[in-house]
This record gives sequence, structure tokens and C-alpha cells, in this order.
Amino acid sequence: PRKLLIVVTPTYNRALQAYYLNRLGQTLRLVPQPLLWIVVEMGSASMETAELLRGTGVMYRHLVCERNSTKVKDRGVHQRNTALQHIERHHLDGIVYFADDDNIYSLELFESLREIRRFGTWPVAMLAQSKNKATLEGPVCNGSQVIGWHTNEKSKKLRRFHVDMSGFAFNSSILWDPKRWGRPTSDPIRQLDTVREGFQETTFIEQVVEDEDQMVGLPYDCSKIMNWHIHLDAKDLNYPNGWQVTTDLDVVI
Ligand code: UDP
Repeated sequence: PRKLLIVVTPTYNRALQAYYLNRLGQTLRLVPQPLLWIVVEMGSASMETAELLRGTGVMYRHLVCERNSTKVKDRGVHQRNTALQHIERHHLDGIVYFADDDNIYSLELFESLREIRRFGTWPVAMLAQSKNKATLEGPVCNGSQVIGWHTNEKSKKLRRFHVDMSGFAFNSSILWDPKRWGRPTSDPIRQLDTVREGFQETTFIEQVVEDEDQMVGLPYDCSKIMNWHIHLDAKDLNYPNGWQVTTDLDVVI
């Protein structure tokens, strides 16, 4: 039987949310079963998201986490932690992947996830409007062996692993079977780091693998981009709520 893919997506209401979730939902619908999409919102479940999920034809769970009381803007970290707790509590056995709603994912990526036994990582293309160019973040590989990391951000030199949130996936059994990964049971996995921007991924990964030897680089030689992390800043655009057009725009007859 095929391995279950557990795709975790934090989301929130904003102008392009429907565009992002439709696009991701339609990609996920093309991925061979079994796949579970865990979509997490903060504060309350929005009608827009609920309705969209009902229409995708993807098996999903719509979760809500409490509003982050620290007032630190955490860009989905709290929501991803809620999903991790859910996976652990219900012993959902599969490959966990953090897929933000605004990135672009190829079907090949989801196929590759099924090759992961413990932990897999791959290079992600980062596209920033301001920089006007694509850069890479993620592993450099020799076959499936990870031998180094691409990084372009000097300020992030202190990170142990240079991986984007959308550039790794792991077996969920790590969450409840620490012994199996050579870790003492008294050392539970801390969740994603909520404070240090840029260190969330590495802090998490440092807990689930010891070093590059416990990783598989995907695809072979890590020579192909399978997903793109884009920054399309459209926060200030004023689109109608729920994409319902209730009042006419200027009509010319
Ligand atoms: N996100 C969220 N609430 C927020 C900010 C972000 O749920 O207040 C989600 C967002 O929908 C996306 C993920 O967290 O799925 C990452 O957000 P974003 O792309 O803005 O962060 P970046 O990747 O630019 O750091």
C-alpha cells in the first residue's frame, strides 16, 4: 500500500487566500491517494476556507488553533504546531509535509515524498519580487546523500541546516517514537520555534535528525526544483469578501 501523505497548511483570510487555496487544493487532488490535507486557521474556522475545502475533493481536516497570546507575528508556526499535536494525538502514520498555501508545488514533489523513510530534503527555488531573481535554498547532494547546503543569505550563516519550510518532510513516527531515531525518551521533540525568524526550520530539524547521514536528498543528485516559494505581496489589494460580487463596479452601458 502507498504511504499516507500528511500535508499541513496554515492559512488566513486575505485578498488572495481563495486563489492560493484553490491552486493548492487542485494540485493535491491530482496526487494519488492516500493523502490527508490538514488546514489550520487561527482564532476561528472561516466560512471561506470551510466552503473551499468542501469543494476540493481532497480528504481534509480543518483545524483551528487558539490565537497566539504572545502577539508575536509567527507566520503560521503556531498553526503548524497545532497540526503536529493533532498528528501525534491521533497517531496519523505517514509522511508529514509543511506546505504553505502560497507556494507552487509540482506533482513530482508529492511522488518524491513517498520515497522518504525517515527524513527527506530537497532544494527550493525562492522567488522574491524585490530581488527580481530566483535563488535556491536546500541541500547539495551526491546521489541521495546530502553533502552541503545552498544558501544566499549571509545573515543566516549560523543556521545548522539551510532548508526552507517547504523543503523537507519526515516520517510522523518520529513524533511518538523518539527511541527509534536514537534519541532518549526523556527528550521530547520541541515544536517549531516561535520566536527566531529564520531559525524555525533548523531548530525543528536539529531535533528530528542528528546529521546529514540521516537524510535522503531528493530527487537523485538534488538537481531538480520541485517547488517554488514565492512572495507575491498583494496584502493591500481590496478584493470583495469571499469573492462575492454584491455591489456593481462602475458599469458602462
Ligand atoms: N500564515 C498564517 N497567518 C499569518 C501569516 C501567515 O496562517 O498571520 C500562513 C500563510 O497562509 C502561509 C504560511 O503561514 O501558508 C507562511 O506565510 P507567508 O508565506 O506569509 O510567510 P513567508 O513564507 O513569507 O515567511
